[in-house]
Amino acid sequence: MKRTGIIGAMEEEVAILKEKMEHVTVTRKADMEFYQGTLNGCEAVVVRSGIGKVNAGICVQILADVFQVDTIINTGVAGSLKTEINIGDIVLSTDTMYHDMDAREFGYPIGQVPRMDTLTFPADPEIRKKAARICKEVNPEIQVFEGRIVSGDQFVADKEQKNRIIENTQGWCTEMEGTAIGQAAYLNKIPYLVIRAISDKADDSAHVDYPTFEKQAIIHSVNLVEALLPLL
Ligand code: SAH
Repeated sequence: MKRTGIIGAMEEEVAILKEKMEHVTVTRKADMEFYQGTLNGCEAVVVRSGIGKVNAGICVQILADVFQVDTIINTGVAGSLKTEINIGDIVLSTDTMYHDMDAREFGYPIGQVPRMDTLTFPADPEIRKKAARICKEVNPEIQVFEGRIVSGDQFVADKEQKNRIIENTQGWCTEMEGTAIGQAAYLNKIPYLVIRAISDKADDSAHVDYPTFEKQAIIHSVNLVEALLPLL
């Protein structure tokens, strides 16, 4: 049976999944609690990584080395970078890219990690297609999009910063972990998908929208992860 690692940056993003797990054993490492057991009849390791790129990268490496997961799914919330992607909607990563990696001084485009052989980290297309299909069944009231998810160690809540990120990356939504997960999965050759439900529009209204819509958005992402597991 395949084993899936499921990462949420914040406790709120994984709490419901943890409650639904069976036969759980908990392992603590790097200030993270890895819940290993079954979820919807499938082998899973569910973990709160903490916020930001370094926490997310460390979390993937532990999932790879200690738990030998076959697949990694990141569930959570994000700020929309497209007018048609509304609060509550879901974005599935075609690929991930940093918006705050900047070595233009040496001729690299924004986002490119110097001396790495790729600008973006491609997510698994088969998992993405399955997620898109099942999302329409479990979350019929929202839209599901497939596009680039961008990350940086910044909560984006400013129109000008948002526009700069769009121009530099052509991202569809922005958050703080997905690309670190993508990069670590790429280095370990583990197929991955980032699933993000929109909590805000990454503009001047984000500080109000984020706390208002976070919970509701998380439910959409959690519904999808649970239904997706048996298809992996
Ligand atoms: N309220 C939290 C901090 C949340 S940081 C606290 O005080 O603990 C925002 C989290 O949601 C990150 O994990 C990030 O991945 C995601 N996120 C949602 N909207 C975002 C935005 N507009 N910009 C960046 N990250 C966003």
